[in-house]
Amino acid sequence: MIPGARLVILGRQGAGKGTQCVRLSRHYVVPHISTGDMLRAAVREQTELGLMAKEIMDSGGLVGDEIMIGLVAERLDRADAQTRGYILDGFPRTVTQADGLDEVAGDKPIDVVIDLYVARDVVLQRISARRVCRDCGTNYTATGTERQPWICEVCGGDVMQRADDHPDAVNRRLDLYEEQTAPLIEHYTSQGRLVVVDGVGAPDEVFRRLTDAIGKRV
Ligand code: AMP
Repeated sequence: MIPGARLVILGRQGAGKGTQCVRLSRHYVVPHISTGDMLRAAVREQTELGLMAKEIMDSGGLVGDEIMIGLVAERLDRADAQTRGYILDGFPRTVTQADGLDEVAGDKPIDVVIDLYVARDVVLQRISARRVCRDCGTNYTATGTERQPWICEVCGGDVMQRADDHPDAVNRRLDLYEEQTAPLIEHYTSQGRLVVVDGVGAPDEVFRRLTDAIGKRV
């Protein structure tokens, strides 16, 4: 039987965290818990939490620690996470949240915190080349040789660059990530719990690096 795992994954936007979290979630048979996804769902459903979070999210700020810790505690209490574990993506974002997570995890602590590392200039390049079909959401990578207007192969819709993938917006998000995450990286490093995994390479190769690193800790 494949053992479960309790993981925290950190990484810049464009580091491939989304892709790898899905694969890790299948591999270890654990839920992929993204606090960003949970908040976006709350915004869509216009719950009390969603209404409160929307403005903060739009400005790139952070939702309060107490609320976030409560949200994650509730999710981690569910049977799937209790029996097999979980992959936390987007949480913790602050040292207070990290301490809260340790408390919530109790006698089933996190196995390892992974920093999926891709240098800033490389993620900038990756994100700048990202294009998406406005109608069906299929993702593409621009090479600069595409015929314009660019038509989606899947549905015939227009292939565009997302507004938040424009270089100014991406730089702002990366600055915020660094500002918010640097203290967390320091915190986990000083506790000897952080493992840095190189996120550059083919997805299969990066996945193998991740499972090798995790295998040493679970
Ligand atoms: P993400 O998809 O992880 O980039 O999250 C999108 C937005 O949701 C962030 O910019 C924050 O405003 C909010 N958010 C997600 N996770 C957290 C968290 N752990 N603490 C505070 N705010 C969060």
